Amino acid sequence: MKQTMNTYLLKLGELTLKGGNREEFELCLKNNLRAMAGATRLRIQMRDGRFFVRCPDSDAPLVEGILSRLIGIAGWAKAEAVEKTMEAIGAACAKVALEARGRGAKTFKIEARRADKSFPLDSYGIMREAGGAVLDAVEGLAVDVKKPDAVIEVEVRDIVYVYGVSNEGRRGLPVGTGGRALLLLSGGIDSPVAGYLMAKRGMRVSAVYFHAYPYTSKEAQEKVVDLARQLGSFALPVRLSVIPFTKVQLRIREKAPAAWATLLSRMAMMDIASRLAGAIKAKCLITGESVGQVASQTIENMSCTESRASLPVLRPLVGTDKIDTIRIAQSIGTYDISIQPFPDCCVVFSPRHPVLRGSLEEANALYQALELEPLLEEAFTGRETLKC
Ligand code: ATP
Ligand code: MG
Repeated sequence: MKQTMNTYLLKLGELTLKGGNREEFELCLKNNLRAMAGATRLRIQMRDGRFFVRCPDSDAPLVEGILSRLIGIAGWAKAEAVEKTMEAIGAACAKVALEARGRGAKTFKIEARRADKSFPLDSYGIMREAGGAVLDAVEGLAVDVKKPDAVIEVEVRDIVYVYGVSNEGRRGLPVGTGGRALLLLSGGIDSPVAGYLMAKRGMRVSAVYFHAYPYTSKEAQEKVVDLARQLGSFALPVRLSVIPFTKVQLRIREKAPAAWATLLSRMAMMDIASRLAGAIKAKCLITGESVGQVASQTIENMSCTESRASLPVLRPLVGTDKIDTIRIAQSIGTYDISIQPFPDCCVVFSPRHPVLRGSLEEANALYQALELEPLLEEAFTGRETLKC
């Protein structure tokens, strides 16, 4: 039996600004879509700066799920491919209008584009005729060209497409156009959001997690794996390196003043993350830090951690407040994972009264005195890499 096919039209948004790089960006978007689709059957066509995705009816829910997660598109809509006659166009517009009325729309307008100049009516003519067909066929709808409740779009190309409601896309730039970054991924709310925001700037994200087993539990690591997987459902599979960090933490507890423990351990994380970034050819590090959020995140303390990094440290949440971060976390499905109660930074290692404004000289002196180098190297070489 022949399956009916569904057609989706993708709007590219920011991509259209990219001038000379546009082709490369479009190719990247196409490859990402294919990678996300996996075994799902879908055909992708690019024509006149438009993307069309076609799939059998039975795969529609999967494809719609993918489009709602695809970074790099401004929006998408299910379109109906119709015969190139005004009767067929009018009937398809009436069908979309009826659906819109069902959702409560009282007014509409038709937007038409004519790429095929051999079509006998120009875009104004198409709008007029299709508008008339809607008014004839659907009661209770009026035209409003200024502020319509529903917009019905008609595109006349070698095929004619008619579509209504368009779904918001994730926007941003296709993942992969901005190079690779290494995300310091803890089990908290912030770092997965930070990774997502940089993925939206086109970066391919790999992740690193510092695990202090048995002080931090196996479940804490599982939670980070789940977060990496969830992030990967938008940003393509995320490779996660797990660093055995216990010996470093114990050395810090043993040799440094308790108030400095958190700051020194963040410095050691930066040190190891920089090595890993070199090995995987990442161009920068990403953290979920936000100024003033917790004691370790004052500007002074950030300067101390940054001093151990050999690459730029990007902090996309630096000026974001927690409520906004939580909203993004909810919209990408990481929030419910992050709030599971498996602490990533064991209380054993967190001082009651941490240093709030560490001086760089003092931090460096304490750090040197720890003689961490062999332990940092051991932790780095002992890493385990998981594809999430
Ligand atoms: P998050 O919600 O991302 O855990 P946070 O508000 O708890 O952040 P901190 O605990 O100060 O903040 O950590 C600051 C940043 O350091 C985190 O956003 C993350 O990027 C990184 N980080 C902290 N702990 C770890 C860890 N165990 N493994 C990897 N990265 C970590
Ligand atoms: Mg945290």
